[in-house]
Amino acid sequence: MSERIHIVGGGLVGLSCGVELLRAGRAVTLLDSGRAGRGASWAAAGMLAPRFEADFDDVEMIRLLVESQRRWADYADSLHADGRAAVDYDDTGTLFVALDRDDEEAARRWYDFARHYDLPVERLDRDALLDREPLLSARARMAVVCAGDHQLDNRKLVELLRTAFLALGGELREETAVASVEVAAGAVRSLALVGGDSIATTNLLLASGAWTRTIDGLAPHRPVIRPVKGQALALRPRPGEELPRAVLRSTEVYLAPKRDRLVVGGTMEEMGFDVRVTSEAVCELLRAAYELVPSTYELELAETWAGFRPASTSGRPILGPSAVDGLSFALGHHRHGVLLLPITVATVTAHLLGRPLPEVARPFLATHATP
Ligand SMILES: Cc1cc2nc3c(=O)[nH]c(=O)nc-3n(C[C@H](O)[C@H](O)[C@H](O)COP(=O)(O)OP(=O)(O)OC[C@H]3O[C@@H](n4cnc5c(N)ncnc54)[C@H](O)[C@@H]3O)c2cc1C
Repeated sequence: MSERIHIVGGGLVGLSCGVELLRAGRAVTLLDSGRAGRGASWAAAGMLAPRFEADFDDVEMIRLLVESQRRWADYADSLHADGRAAVDYDDTGTLFVALDRDDEEAARRWYDFARHYDLPVERLDRDALLDREPLLSARARMAVVCAGDHQLDNRKLVELLRTAFLALGGELREETAVASVEVAAGAVRSLALVGGDSIATTNLLLASGAWTRTIDGLAPHRPVIRPVKGQALALRPRPGEELPRAVLRSTEVYLAPKRDRLVVGGTMEEMGFDVRVTSEAVCELLRAAYELVPSTYELELAETWAGFRPASTSGRPILGPSAVDGLSFALGHHRHGVLLLPITVATVTAHLLGRPLPEVARPFLATHATP
């Protein structure tokens, strides 16, 4: 039980599991091919919104998302003396805004869905909505408010976890890409690095996000993970320029106001590892943002980017033990990786430390889900 644990992938998933394992007294080495946290975890919008990201029919997934959301505030507080404040945890809630009759129908479905799961939800008529969000377009007809759908600044969270990992004595090897994993007699033996070096290990956690399929040696045990490209952008206000108060969503776009920027996202594209930001995506995101909040046209276009969501074939995360001794997974978080951190950390570290697993995570164990 006391061998050093090697983690491949220093996104939010790898970093957060690493921090928890270090706190439990384990020795941890984390390897990342770039700077830790600059993959999907940097590209994300930081929304903790099970209501708007779940597939209506996947009850196990909805339970997992809702349970992780429920744990988030305490989890943030456990990470730092300033806890929630350090990651700009914002519990204002999320507004799904209807701009036309079709949207109203969609809003009604969201409302019924939330009621069905006994989640806090409320309808706002046009006047109440415009009182609450004066920057909204005059076209806004009504909204559904999900008070439990929160957000944070995922980039601050990345830096906080990276600092915590180092402060707790973790070994962080950045710019170190793993080429393959050696498995012999049904157990993990070593990692081969790009460039030729190798590292002996008997306890490996794979948290390599969308790039998992580029690591050799694990087939047929490696889950199939594909990159789902997401383009997004950030608008920056000048002093005196206002941003919306809450996270706003329409059927076409979301606007997530951070302390210093408004994140507008995001596309969903099956384009492999295509890193290009296209003018079409930027145009469409800006148009949809304008239709929700016209004053977005006044803001500076500060940044555009593309990131890769790690998606499994089922769209569900794959957590915990595998069929190979010493090999564990924390993969496939797709659109929910930030939201799912608390339950991922609890599940993966419970498995690695021999503690009871959260019941809600059992359907997502790698031994159940690996094709
Ligand atoms: C545009 C966009 C918006 C999003 N918005 C949200 C949101 O609002 N809320 C939410 O919950 N989720 C959101 N997501 C999803 C979320 O970002 C991901 O689910 C989450 O970040 C996945 O974390 P990860 O650590 O698994 O992956 P990553 O952050 O991608 O980390 C994987 C790491 O592994 C490293 N790596 C890969 N291969 C190797 C190798 N061979 N050797 C060494 N290191 C390797 C990479 O360098 C990378 O740092 C969004 C994603 C995108 C793209």
